[in-house]
Amino acid sequence: MTKPKVAFYWCASCGGCEEAVVDLNEDILKVTDAVDIVLWPVALDFKKKDVEALSDGEIAVSFINGAVRTAEQEEMVKLLSQKSGLIVAFGSCAHLGGIPGLGNFCTRDEIFQTAYKDSPSTENPEGTVPQEKTDIGIGELTLPEFYDTVKTLDQTISVDYYLPGCPPPPDLIMNAINAILTGQLPEKGAVLAPNKAQCDTCPRADTRPEKLSMAEIKRPWEIKIDPEKCFLVQDLICLGPATRSGCGETCIRANMPCRGCFGPVDGVIDQGARALSAIASILGLEGEEKMTEEGIQELINRS
Ligand code: SF4
Ligand code: SF4
Repeated sequence: MTKPKVAFYWCASCGGCEEAVVDLNEDILKVTDAVDIVLWPVALDFKKKDVEALSDGEIAVSFINGAVRTAEQEEMVKLLSQKSGLIVAFGSCAHLGGIPGLGNFCTRDEIFQTAYKDSPSTENPEGTVPQEKTDIGIGELTLPEFYDTVKTLDQTISVDYYLPGCPPPPDLIMNAINAILTGQLPEKGAVLAPNKAQCDTCPRADTRPEKLSMAEIKRPWEIKIDPEKCFLVQDLICLGPATRSGCGETCIRANMPCRGCFGPVDGVIDQGARALSAIASILGLEGEEKMTEEGIQELINRS
């Protein structure tokens, strides 16, 4: 029997999502038993021409992690889109921009200036920066264009499903693979994780009072964090109220507040706005009393 073909690809990524596939441990053997992997740059030596040689739609599913920042990444995801039946945005960077998405706070020139000239570990007296074309006498070397902005995968190609997380946890990856293999997928466009907020599943939820107030904002390194109590009660920002659950509360169990990598629950367009509104509603209260305007301003300045 012909096995379904599967591709894994990475764009602007730290490699953690690739590690997450390896973290399937013995389950990876079940995956390789059930499918034929036709592209996986981190582990197998397939080339772009091998993908080009496939018929359109021949790959059952491509799991693509990382955001899209370069012309090469755009070209590869467009090729995979043409050759695949399904595209899964794998991990926060492909889903929402993730850490590479923070690059959108700076211009391309500022990034090059910092990375290749100003960073303390850089030794670059001639101020050389990567060029798209370099003549080396015996020929020309090329590098892909580095775009002005970072894009999510669905800002570049059509995406069928989203596997959230930084990186997605092994149980959600296996659930997704099983759902694909057995044809039990939800509606297209779905995020393959529970549609509940982190606060609904958090082991500290019982310590979060109904009426909550934050009189100041602390950084995790400024205090000894109580490992049992809700972070908001300890004046630490936790994005749990605005974030989808399904990660197994990994950060919270490691005594770090939720950083929001699973994105919002269904129906919320802007996770950041939802988080800000949740925090703004409890900030600036001292017990039942509202803080003065000056107090709030001082709090914002300190934050
Ligand atoms: S989602 Fe997280 S683990 Fe995956 S590539 Fe992005 S930063 Fe790395
Ligand atoms: S705010 Fe954070 S620590 Fe508190 S209940 Fe929600 S997820 Fe848990």
